Amino acid sequence: MNHDPNCLFCKIVQGLIPSQKVYEDAEIYAFKDINPAAPVHFLIIPKKHLAMLESAEPVDAPMLGRMMELAPRLAKEQGCRPGQDGGFRLVVNNGADGGQEVYHLHLHVMGGPRPWKK
Ligand code: AMP
Ligand code: ZN
Repeated sequence: MNHDPNCLFCKIVQGLIPSQKVYEDAEIYAFKDINPAAPVHFLIIPKKHLAMLESAEPVDAPMLGRMMELAPRLAKEQGCRPGQDGGFRLVVNNGADGGQEVYHLHLHVMGGPRPWKK
């Protein structure tokens, strides 16, 4: 697996920094956000280091698709209500102008009853 020794989320994937795991498979890891913006807030990340969404290449498309497909399933497992009255928000921040702070691609999954913090 391609890890960046200076990357916070690579350290989380390797268990060098603790996290509250939500899901794991061969290529994807999901864990709770340390500073939740909503009652449910977790991050889905590729295990391999990809700095930003714009670093992704065509070969990464299946993995990106799997992250999107996992999001609703894990959202419900984490307590998001199903259907039109419930739901969740998915966010990918890309680069400084996009508000990205951690340079390892991550999909924010936020949900739960309103109001949220942000
Ligand atoms: P972004 O601004 O999209 O780069 O978001 C980075 C997210 O990572 C923020 O929501 C942080 O709260 C979250 N975060 C930072 N450090 C940790 C950590 N050690 N464990 C879990 N989440 C973290
Ligand atoms: Zn990384």
